[in-house]
Amino acid sequence: MKKCELLDGCLFFRDKMPTDQGLGALYKKKYCLDDNSKCARYMVAKVLGREKVPTDLYPNMSDSAQEMIEKG
Ligand code: SF4
Repeated sequence: MKKCELLDGCLFFRDKMPTDQGLGALYKKKYCLDDNSKCARYMVAKVLGREKVPTDLYPNMSDSAQEMIEKG
């Protein structure tokens, strides 16, 4: 279990993105507080930079993240 180092200022973690509350809590537990390596937002931030993370990219959207990373 490892907290994501991007918690501070992450729109998703800071509840700045609309989510069903239950689902949001589930994702936070799964990605933000346990394993950020599969988080779409984290993947994009690490490769392309934090400013490139779309405001509507949710942690479970790893396919979109992969696509963005491939396109650069
Ligand atoms: S949504 Fe992703 S980038 Fe944001 S705090 Fe959670 S694991 Fe980190």
